[in-house]
Amino acid sequence: GLGGGILITLVLSGIGGIFLTRQAMQPIEESFQRLKQFTADASHELRSPLMAIKINAELPLEYPMEIGPKDAEKFQAIASATNQMTRLTEDLLFLARTDKVPNGDWNSLNLTSILENLLLLYKPQAQAKQINLISQLTENLYLMGDSVQLTRLFSNLIENALHYTPLEGVIEIKTTRVGSQIYVKVQDTGMGIAPEHIDKVFERFWRADKSRSYNSGGSGLGLAIAQAIAHNHSGLITVTGQLGVGSCFTVRLPAS
Ligand code: ADP
Repeated sequence: GLGGGILITLVLSGIGGIFLTRQAMQPIEESFQRLKQFTADASHELRSPLMAIKINAELPLEYPMEIGPKDAEKFQAIASATNQMTRLTEDLLFLARTDKVPNGDWNSLNLTSILENLLLLYKPQAQAKQINLISQLTENLYLMGDSVQLTRLFSNLIENALHYTPLEGVIEIKTTRVGSQIYVKVQDTGMGIAPEHIDKVFERFWRADKSRSYNSGGSGLGLAIAQAIAHNHSGLITVTGQLGVGSCFTVRLPAS
């Protein structure tokens, strides 16, 4: 399997410093691609049955007089669990597709306007939590990329900041350009991340608080997706922070 292939590669290169030719890498690369394709296919196939469950669970809720309150509760539980699963399968599908570099939608993009649109989009949510959503954006930052992916990357970061920052906090989005690199910082005054967890946050399904986050609606894939998108754009995503003080996610992307 894939794990075995990687293990053998690591052991071989570790012991003998053996140089792996492209030919030797090919079966590993192929089984890796097959695994991704499987994830993409599986999540795609799960979409329709999940939609059917969701519709059938939500329909009776529209006729509360015909079902008892106990049944309504059960249908509600089915509907929200189905929503959680739908989100999970959508995220898995997105992740599996994102890793397929580069696709057809590669364009010259104005990152400043992507971020401005997101600021408008999340303004009501910030206001609802009395969070001060502020920005300091450099004009006309252009880069080559996929606008759907980049929008997703930054919306994941902003949604997390909104989610993990308590009432009356501050979220700041800042851009700078240093030479040929664009830096986007999303900083919040939320719960922060423990130093021993800094390396873990980008792992698939990793969460600081397993119990609490389960019901939060997130899939646990948001930052894994953000990282895959950054890598797909030859970029990098890093995080700093302090527990109880806040977090700061920095995305570095090559400018065009
Ligand atoms: P989710 O938010 O759905 O749990 P993510 O992949 O987006 O999944 O984030 C993984 C984990 O990283 C979160 O569960 C949380 O513990 C931590 N995290 C992410 N963003 C922040 C943030 N802005 N502040 C504090 N912790 C965060």
